[in-house]
Amino acid sequence: MKILGLVKTSTVDYPSKLVSTIFLGGCNFNCEYCHNRDLIKPEDSVPSISEDELISFLKGRRNIIEGLCITGGEATIWGEKLISLVRKIKSELGNDFLIKLDTNGSNPNFLRDYANEFDYIAMDFKTTNYKKYLNFSDEIIKESLNILKNTKIPYEIRITMYPPYIKEEDMESIAKILEGIDKVFLQEYKPVEFGSQEIYSLPILEKFKDILIKNGVSIEIR
Ligand code: SF4
Repeated sequence: MKILGLVKTSTVDYPSKLVSTIFLGGCNFNCEYCHNRDLIKPEDSVPSISEDELISFLKGRRNIIEGLCITGGEATIWGEKLISLVRKIKSELGNDFLIKLDTNGSNPNFLRDYANEFDYIAMDFKTTNYKKYLNFSDEIIKESLNILKNTKIPYEIRITMYPPYIKEEDMESIAKILEGIDKVFLQEYKPVEFGSQEIYSLPILEKFKDILIKNGVSIEIR
């Protein structure tokens, strides 16, 4: 497991908290709209930050930041190695040092075993057809959603509104899949070089939001 990036201070990666953010290398998806493409399959030679360096950095900033966001790549592919880092950070910085996990939802076993080790979880929901667009099981994603629905840990679902993956006719199915979830955010897609150059305008996002609200989903545009 390699820590390939560190944002020293972020106001946007943890709701209402000032945190640092780390980026772990490696991802089991290959989303067309990925903004962290270099992290999907990083070269072995890419320089990384050691766990000890990270912990000493966090200790030095303990009076400024309230926690750490762990993102990727897809952090959960590292399983117990990730959890051992989380436990090390909590033991060195205190249990009140908050740790948030960002995940693509591909690892329900990890969430079942370890969701409780985090203080907040953000899971992406990318499409109603993972099989077609990401060569992945839609059922596994639903399993992760169900685990989060039943956890006591605060969590949110984020949907990047990438036109090739999400269309107006999907809204009712999305509403059914996300039924019972309190915090869902629609995020605008920001075009990347190898992705679609089409974006949804704000009025269209508002229309999608209204359809989801009418179907019982509590949702905001971010
Ligand atoms: S899951 Fe995230 S890191 Fe992985 S390819 Fe998709 S957008 Fe990129």
